[in-house]
Amino acid sequence: MIIATGTASGKSLAYLVPAVTEIFSGGTVLYLTPTKALAADQLRTVRGLRLAQVRPATFDGDTPAEERQWVRQHANYVLTNPDMLHRSILPRHASWSSFWRRLRLVVVDECHGYRGVFGSHVAQILRRLRRVSAKYGSRPVFLLASATASDPALAGMRLTGLEMAEVTTDASPRGSTTFALWEPPLTDLRGEGGAPVRRTATAEAADLLSDLVIEDVRTLAFVRSRRAAETVALTARRNLEEMEAVDGIALPLAADLTASTHDQGFADPAGRRAEGFEEPSLAAGEELEEPALPYGPGLAFPAIAGDGGGSHRETQPSRTGREHGGGLPGGAPVGRLADRVAAYRAGYLADDRRVLEKALRSGALVGLATTNALELGVDVSGLDAVLIAGWPGTRASLWQQAGRAGRAGQDALAVLIARDDPLDTYLVHHPEALFGRPVEAIVLDPDNPYVLAPHLCAAAAEIPITDDDLEIFGPAALDALDDLVARGLLRRRTTGWFWTSRDRAADLADIRGSGGSPIQVVESGTGRLLGTVDESSAHTTVHTGAVYLHQGETFVVEELELDAGVALVSAAEPDYSTFARDVTDIRVMESLRSQAFGPGELHFGSVEVTRQVVSYLKRRHQTGEMLGEEPLDLPPRTLRTRAVWWTLPSAVLTPLVSDPDGKPIDLGGAAHAAEHASIGLLPLFATCDRWDIGGVSTELHPDTGLLTVFVYDGHEGGAGFAERGYAKAADWLSATREAISSCECERGCPSCIQSPKCGNGNEPLDKAGALRLLGVLLGS
Ligand SMILES: [Zn+2]
Ligand SMILES: [Zn+2]
Repeated sequence: MIIATGTASGKSLAYLVPAVTEIFSGGTVLYLTPTKALAADQLRTVRGLRLAQVRPATFDGDTPAEERQWVRQHANYVLTNPDMLHRSILPRHASWSSFWRRLRLVVVDECHGYRGVFGSHVAQILRRLRRVSAKYGSRPVFLLASATASDPALAGMRLTGLEMAEVTTDASPRGSTTFALWEPPLTDLRGEGGAPVRRTATAEAADLLSDLVIEDVRTLAFVRSRRAAETVALTARRNLEEMEAVDGIALPLAADLTASTHDQGFADPAGRRAEGFEEPSLAAGEELEEPALPYGPGLAFPAIAGDGGGSHRETQPSRTGREHGGGLPGGAPVGRLADRVAAYRAGYLADDRRVLEKALRSGALVGLATTNALELGVDVSGLDAVLIAGWPGTRASLWQQAGRAGRAGQDALAVLIARDDPLDTYLVHHPEALFGRPVEAIVLDPDNPYVLAPHLCAAAAEIPITDDDLEIFGPAALDALDDLVARGLLRRRTTGWFWTSRDRAADLADIRGSGGSPIQVVESGTGRLLGTVDESSAHTTVHTGAVYLHQGETFVVEELELDAGVALVSAAEPDYSTFARDVTDIRVMESLRSQAFGPGELHFGSVEVTRQVVSYLKRRHQTGEMLGEEPLDLPPRTLRTRAVWWTLPSAVLTPLVSDPDGKPIDLGGAAHAAEHASIGLLPLFATCDRWDIGGVSTELHPDTGLLTVFVYDGHEGGAGFAERGYAKAADWLSATREAISSCECERGCPSCIQSPKCGNGNEPLDKAGALRLLGVLLGS
């Protein structure tokens, strides 16, 4: 069974009731989440039920050795994660025998998190789990909980290999939320190839936050980085200070305010920044220490201290002409408006968080700009509005963030502010893609041979694999087993396939990575290990000079040392972000599926991609302006993966280039533009990031002999994204065409056909040509 409904719709109750029921009749329950933090949360919930028969326990990397024995023998509600299942519980199944024998229910919570390569690994781990439980005579029910998604039963089936029933109706009570989709205007600034630059989502967020604070609307603004959170808070504070500085003059209407900010303020961003940095608490050098914010939790909020600076407030009529009295709702003392806005980021201590939560609840603080860190650490309720700067990647995250608004069933406001990106452009012009039936599916590919093979080894080490097991592991299993025997990893005997090595088979599968030894990201001054990056994505994310984000904090890569497997970084606050650019070649190995598509053909199959990162671009945060391109010297990488591609025959192209009435199109530029935009839109249908996929377009590809546009999975062996593109091609390519035509720019910009990672410097591109080309392909 899979339950796929929104945030706070009661999913936990839906699995807790059957779980507890099974325990009452002597069974055991296994609960899986992607993170330890969630398991700890759930443990509190289960304990909170105060049921003597239920003996819950977490089993993860933090569980002390002396407790593990107790958990194995006595716990009947075990909370763990796929990593622990893979590395410890399944390989040592014999020591869990009494748990397996009574296993009735497996709860897979937040299962929308199991996607791409990681999801494919989890799918194989769950198949191993089914085989091990069967050995002990149990056949547990799988109960999956997911955010809303397209085809949840299908996703659940791919994850578990079992038929699924789905529950998608959400009848939970809630207030209504007004949802605004907000597209920032094009500015006079020029980017690559003279393209117009759209005003940034963070600049718009700062203005909206100011407007809402004036209206006393308790607002949370979600942005991507700590730096952006600080910029939004600072800009909002400055906007509010400027208004208050005009003593005795009535506050302008909010609409005028917005206009004046656009006209004067951001025409001269440097001037405004200088003004902002006069804030005494942002003195040089201090910003890297905690708390670094103008009014971070470590400093008292003037509003909380009640410094008596509230006289302005009392004389200012608001937009609606309402007079605010002496106090704020909730009885909080009145402070200067600017002091009621702050930024929040990861890394604050628990005490600081409590101060912040309290200030927000009491109304002393009205506006807070934050990174997603807040989703993890702070308990904020009682908000009226949420601003979301840029599409957060999935509908699940969008609803989670928007769900913060709405106190005690009251109505709320949520605003999604578009970034200059084709997907964001499409969404703000097509609300039905957000509010109608979800089009985004949880995508994974359990048959990926690079994923399947190491799990077959792990499974054979657990219990030798027999012919009967082939069905569990899917159609690709037999070939993979033959290959493993040929490589000497498994032995074939009459009774099945055996793991005979003394090594741990589970070590072969790196379930959070995607092959290759990962690159370690190390802070050069302190030697602190910040994290690891897959070898496959290191060239694009931690090349020398790259701006690297870690939990909302910003670092610059001093050097990527490929031989040593290390990227040395240092903390910095550059006013730009970086985008790696690569040049790509693609070879068709095999077309696995194909179909006629309009006058052309659509294929899905195996390809070999050779990619080389050649340079990176710097783009200014505040304005989106291009600051230049720096060359890089990195070796090419070869990737065997899956791709979806379409071709058009020259018979339908000839009229496009020789049209005597219309403007002839540049075929190469048209295909290139269509490729860029389609990469941008695929994440809407397959829950992936545009950085998980890549593309190649050419007027004449040697393997097809035709005009061809490829979109491929950026992971070894494929991750299911291209396959989803093949399955949803008509919708996906129509949305691509829509995104291009929705953008009001004349000849192409980053919101439609320019790509930040284009290795050809976004040349050539033909916007009108792309629309006609896609029109022909889609038969319109
Ligand atoms: Zn455009
Ligand atoms: Zn390109």
